[in-house]
Amino acid sequence: MSGTPRLVLATHNQGKLRELRELLRGQVPGLDVDTQVVDAAAAGAPDVVENGVTFAENSLLKARAVAEATGLVAIADDSGLAVDVLGGAPGIFSARWSGRHGDDAANLQLLLAQLSDVPDAHRGAAFICAAALAVPGDGDGTREVVEYGQLEGTLLREPRGAGGFGYDPILQPKGMDRSCAELSSEEKNAISHRGHAFRALLPAIIDALS
Ligand code: IMP
Repeated sequence: MSGTPRLVLATHNQGKLRELRELLRGQVPGLDVDTQVVDAAAAGAPDVVENGVTFAENSLLKARAVAEATGLVAIADDSGLAVDVLGGAPGIFSARWSGRHGDDAANLQLLLAQLSDVPDAHRGAAFICAAALAVPGDGDGTREVVEYGQLEGTLLREPRGAGGFGYDPILQPKGMDRSCAELSSEEKNAISHRGHAFRALLPAIIDALS
């Protein structure tokens, strides 16, 4: 029924919700993406402690908790920046690399300082995303699927561009001459780690809602 939530995205981020709705638009017969695909707050789902040690674990923790709390099909993602010379760090610590959760400017400046004498040839990095789907079962536990996406590039020496968030101003995607913060949101969504992960999850989402 139109208006009754059928799919919950475990996030408070309205940008992610918009992206997911666009991805699903027209894909599932009978699904009204604008009213039936909702965020965690609209579904009355509690916040989840992300205490996993991998992107996949954290995305699954969130999707599972929301599916169990609401009885609805749930999706969650977890993402971050993995720097080659740092062995994949900041990784799951991307949002709090400088010690303060969500301080994008401080996180980015600390990373640039740490890499100040790393030559251009060794400044490879990638945004990584795990996207998880949890489907509540009829007494037989949740069914779960995880897919991944990544956006490879090179770290710049100075922030460039005013768009995006997080580390966007210092990641220049492979084959481009602009940072992620200099791309339009359509350009970024088309190549982003989150876009790739959600698109990989699409068949499982369609299956769960059909
Ligand atoms: P979350 O998965 O949305 O919580 O993202 C975790 C952290 O990873 C963010 O706070 C950012 O620091 C970083 N991050 C994840 N995706 C992106 C992106 O697309 N651009 C820039 N930074 C990102």
